[in-house]
Amino acid sequence: MNTLNTKKYTNEKLRSLKIREAHEAMLKGEFSACDLASAYLELIQKENPEIHAYLEVYTDVIEQAKVADLIFKEGKATLMTGIPVGIKDNILVNGHIASSGSKMLQNYVAPYDATAIARLRAQGAVFLGRTNMDEFAMGGSTEKSAYGPTKNPHDTSRVPGGTSGGSAAAVSMHGAHVALGSDTGGSVRQPASFCGVVGLKPTYGAVSRFGLMAAVSSFDQIGPIGRNIDDARILFDAIRGKDVNDGTTIDIESGVVSGGKESSAKKVIGVPWHFLGGEGMDPRVYENFKETVEKLRSLGHEIKEIKLPHISYALPVYYILNFAEVSSNLARYDGVKYGFFKEGKNLAEDYALTRGEGFGREARRRILLGAYVLSSGYYDAYYNKANALRKVITEDFISVWENDGVDLVITPTTPAPAWKLGEKSVASDPMAMYLADIFTVTPSLTGLPALSVPCGTVNVEDKKLPLGVQLVGKHGFDHMLFDIGQEIENFQA
Ligand code: GLN
Repeated sequence: MNTLNTKKYTNEKLRSLKIREAHEAMLKGEFSACDLASAYLELIQKENPEIHAYLEVYTDVIEQAKVADLIFKEGKATLMTGIPVGIKDNILVNGHIASSGSKMLQNYVAPYDATAIARLRAQGAVFLGRTNMDEFAMGGSTEKSAYGPTKNPHDTSRVPGGTSGGSAAAVSMHGAHVALGSDTGGSVRQPASFCGVVGLKPTYGAVSRFGLMAAVSSFDQIGPIGRNIDDARILFDAIRGKDVNDGTTIDIESGVVSGGKESSAKKVIGVPWHFLGGEGMDPRVYENFKETVEKLRSLGHEIKEIKLPHISYALPVYYILNFAEVSSNLARYDGVKYGFFKEGKNLAEDYALTRGEGFGREARRRILLGAYVLSSGYYDAYYNKANALRKVITEDFISVWENDGVDLVITPTTPAPAWKLGEKSVASDPMAMYLADIFTVTPSLTGLPALSVPCGTVNVEDKKLPLGVQLVGKHGFDHMLFDIGQEIENFQA
């Protein structure tokens, strides 16, 4: 089936459409879902060998697109019908390998669909393939995949960010219309920022974790990535909401796509200036951030200085809790139940060989440190203290909403643009990479929604490297972030 009107729609044009535009055109029969899928497959074939955004492109993409075309014919199409989506390698797609970027699961075939996938499938979305990631969603550069790094499409000598670097790079290179990532401490927002695309970490519980491989269960969320706010919002609306298979899920305030009931009202935007502009923050990022804040002020929003008194504890608290939960969640990969297995002389050696070889260095580091902070002698000193501080940091935000009357908080997404491949070696200095998460881990600790929006570029070595700002909202106010994000996107245009 090829209904492509080649004069109006080249493959390049097809890949540049917004979801809404593609939807309208497919409704009118100007091109088919098969045409759209083929246009993306063409680009992937061309660019993926260099960028390595995908670990695998599914062989049934056109079959899926045919199903989408039938849904259009039956008059049952939704906005996501026929839209090509990249899927992070830790989200289960029935019948396909999901390896979480790890040797441990290199041959693991998902026996069911994650809820987010099931919801998209029911609407006839087209899954292009699985995207590269840091092993078990630990890292910040997509260099820690057992299958080799992904490169940043804006400068292939640089990282795309991580851990959803494959998804962000796929969307950025126009190798997927939108993509799903997962965010624990920044893994959707940071690569979105590095690759110049939009990424949301939803309110904790807004999107079901059923079928998302558990890394840090009290933080993990599946999040949408798109080239613009509207695309990311449409994907978010398609996957969110209560799910009987995940008891932590909630229905958040309904997001009328035009922006919710108060979309035109001016907001009070809080800026924690005391935490910005210091050593470790690239001055160009700081300048760009200040300009973005000034533009928001010129649109009529009130900009208010706020204090988050305990924010400097966020990074150590995040990493202690991360290690603790990772060490217990990854205990299931022991070679006995499923996954990679290496036989030893006895059971203890089976475990040691399997886990020693199946996991990469960063996973092993976190498992060991996590076991340490959870051990009986140190549980109170580390794990319990970190949990107590998690609450205190959450209260800082509640005070900002309630006492300062702030609607949302803005910070840069990252302290610097994308770094060079190999520059921050986790092997020699893991802290160098952990420090880059300084702005993204805080909303993760609190369960608040956080959105990264592109806000310009900096010129580095003749390349334009994207920058992003992060908007943090009240619990369940994900749509307000999209509304303000839309204003930021508009002034980029
Ligand atoms: N960079 C952070 C970490 O290494 C965040 C990872 C994530 O969000 N999955 O834990």
